[in-house]
Amino acid sequence: MEDQECNALDIVDCHAHIASEEHTPMSFVEGSVANMVAAVSAQGVPVTAKKLTALFMSKMQDPLCDALVAEMDEANIRKTILLVPDFTYTLKDCRLTIEESYHKHREVLHRHTGRFEVFGGIDPRWGKDGLELFERSLLDFGFRGLKLYPPCGYSPSDRSLFPYYELCAYHHVPVLLHMGPTSPVLDFNFASPFLVDEAARLFPSVNFILAHGAVSFVEECIMMCRFRPNVYLDISGFQATLGYDPAATAVKRVVSVGLNHKVMFGTDFPVFRLQGTQRDFVEVVTAEAGPLADLNDREKSLVLHQNIARLLETGVSVAA
Ligand SMILES: [Zn+2]
Repeated sequence: MEDQECNALDIVDCHAHIASEEHTPMSFVEGSVANMVAAVSAQGVPVTAKKLTALFMSKMQDPLCDALVAEMDEANIRKTILLVPDFTYTLKDCRLTIEESYHKHREVLHRHTGRFEVFGGIDPRWGKDGLELFERSLLDFGFRGLKLYPPCGYSPSDRSLFPYYELCAYHHVPVLLHMGPTSPVLDFNFASPFLVDEAARLFPSVNFILAHGAVSFVEECIMMCRFRPNVYLDISGFQATLGYDPAATAVKRVVSVGLNHKVMFGTDFPVFRLQGTQRDFVEVVTAEAGPLADLNDREKSLVLHQNIARLLETGVSVAA
């Protein structure tokens, strides 16, 4: 019975990444692991950074996304948006250049037709080359959005990004931005949602998605979504709260404030692969007494797939 209910749902995961060490600098992973070691060892569990890194890297061996597609099928996730954060300007130990990463993502798009979309990321400090690569990603690679990672060291409203936003407006594609803290090797100063405000105001026909809005700067993200017609949020990262809050109250909070036309389901795969499968995470969110329990069917579909589908189909919200 439970399975039937699960099958009836149409789910799009608006926030994931290829599980492969090629696209992620080792320094980024080691920084994230340091936080896990602090948490786990405080519980009296003997663990070393080396062991935990090795364990995590064993889950990062799916460069063509075959394992991810299998997990999507099990979890009834119809489609996943793969995001390509560009760490390569700030962290110099990434195996691939950003252009090489784009090519690998294009291969995945072709290998699993219809199951993925890709949002390409660029650090704006690459200058003209970066802008050209991003435009090529939209015109030739079939990418459908821009992914920004401000903790790499730039504000989302920095002037250098405006040509990118102009391209996004022209091609009707959204911008998804990492919000909140991240690996301790990066700068948290640029992680605040209000730094998106100027960009969102100056580019009203571009849709901006605040990633991790259910767990990072939650009140600020909610405010931005309420008052900027072109600002949305995703719930990815809610898994970080499940250890102390298995009912996912964080998700319940953001779907209880009258903004379900702005909230999107996301998992941040493969970040939480040590904690569970895609099916586990879908089940937490869609459980009968789970965080979406008080929503009507229409609101549930908005959150689980329609909001992101709308942004991808029409590319337009307010300017339509
Ligand atoms: Zn992510």
